[in-house]
Amino acid sequence: MFVGIDDSATFDVVGVGFGPSNLALAIAIEDHNRDSAAPERITSCFIEKQSRFGWHRGMLLPGTTMQISFLKDLVTQRDASSRYSFLNYLSERGRLHHFINQQTFFPTRIEFHDYLEWAAAHVDAPVLYGAQVSGVRQIGDVFEVSVSGRAPVLARNVVLAGGLRAKLPEGVTPSARVFHNHQLLAQLRVLPTPAHHRFVVVGAGQSAAEVAAYLHDSYPESEIHAVFGKYGYTPADDSPYANRIFDPEAVAEFHGAPVELREQLMGYHRATNYSAVDLPLIEELYRREYAERVSGHRRLFVHGASEIADMVDYGDGVTVRIGHRMAQKNTEIDCDAIIYATGFRSVGLTELLGPLAGECEVDAQGRPQIDRDYRIVTSGRVAGGIYLQGDTEHTHGLTSTLLSNLAVRSGELTRSLAAGPRVGDMDMEGAPTLVGESV
Ligand SMILES: Cc1cc2nc3c(=O)[nH]c(=O)nc-3n(C[C@H](O)[C@H](O)[C@H](O)COP(=O)(O)OP(=O)(O)OC[C@H]3O[C@@H](n4cnc5c(N)ncnc54)[C@H](O)[C@@H]3O)c2cc1C
Repeated sequence: MFVGIDDSATFDVVGVGFGPSNLALAIAIEDHNRDSAAPERITSCFIEKQSRFGWHRGMLLPGTTMQISFLKDLVTQRDASSRYSFLNYLSERGRLHHFINQQTFFPTRIEFHDYLEWAAAHVDAPVLYGAQVSGVRQIGDVFEVSVSGRAPVLARNVVLAGGLRAKLPEGVTPSARVFHNHQLLAQLRVLPTPAHHRFVVVGAGQSAAEVAAYLHDSYPESEIHAVFGKYGYTPADDSPYANRIFDPEAVAEFHGAPVELREQLMGYHRATNYSAVDLPLIEELYRREYAERVSGHRRLFVHGASEIADMVDYGDGVTVRIGHRMAQKNTEIDCDAIIYATGFRSVGLTELLGPLAGECEVDAQGRPQIDRDYRIVTSGRVAGGIYLQGDTEHTHGLTSTLLSNLAVRSGELTRSLAAGPRVGDMDMEGAPTLVGESV
């Protein structure tokens, strides 16, 4: 269902994707427009391919918690008095005292999803749900954003925030029994009744461990085989000094640092986010496995230093050969499903921009060059601003793909958008020229 927007209108900003990043931006723009000292209103519109707001719904597993403090919500670090804070959400839901009594900084993901949905429902910018962006062209001073099922939307600036894409190992073809953890709950809903009473989970990160625990709880008749290359799950580093890598100052310092130093810092602090698991979950899995060793009724098998040597999906099940690299032997099992918790990959600018991506400057590794204010460096032929949220780890550091800096980042973006090309200063003279089509 589309909300009504005037097809002939040109917006100052069109946001592509309406996940937490562009939701935070919509709120920051709303705050800017409310501020009587702000020079001019910024007009905006957002386009989201899902039919309603949703934040990684496939992984909303009961009991799983946020990995950031609720104080790193959509607004607090930018404006602690905002009505869009997590605390105000709790207050409106009538749960403030109950939440406080829990004495935690880490709400469940289900509750945080409800907070994000609540914020998305209150924000005043129009959001076109169920609408996929397939490309952006520049015509004269204006971007024409192509959207499935409706007329293009016109804007002076675009903010790309389409998130990352689920990544399967090369050669793996997804099916009803072979899938990425990002789709876990939806896939399990349509999985045929388990016949082999076995699941395989591939990966050593937080999601992999959560999936193993969830399946172990939800399928009490089934074995769960967790397979990964590390010797054991290793803890996520959420210690206070390491956590400073997510501070707003760290983003500024990272952007200003030479490439070699950025890469060194990414290497030092990968365990804050990648291939790492919250320690209590590691301990919980170990406790379960040990209890099964005591009882002799084994269901949870954690295969470290191992890999999937072969996998055949024959329709009624999947035959998986697990290669144990230290012992140099294989175990072959039939399972009901194999779940790959193998992370995410960049989208690439071409998927969202089409040929206009050719006007964006790239570094030696082909990654977009991005200014401190998240604006992509473009050729002089591009009149408006193309901004990128999310996929900026190489320029803005570890916080880029996460929620930790959303509040501050959306404020920085809004300031840049307010100062940049706007509808009010458009050159209405001369014939429009098309940029990017010949690339
Ligand atoms: C299970 C899980 C748990 C996580 N937990 C945390 C956590 O606790 N703390 C933390 O900091 N980070 C966490 N993350 C990281 C996560 O990436 C961020 O939380 C967040 O999703 C980033 O927001 P985003 O808006 O940039 O991207 P996304 O949330 O991916 O949103 C992108 C949106 O763009 C839409 N879209 C994509 N392409 C198009 C198109 N062509 N046209 C229109 N719409 C499009 C998508 O449908 C989607 O809604 C978690 C990630 C996962 C997978």
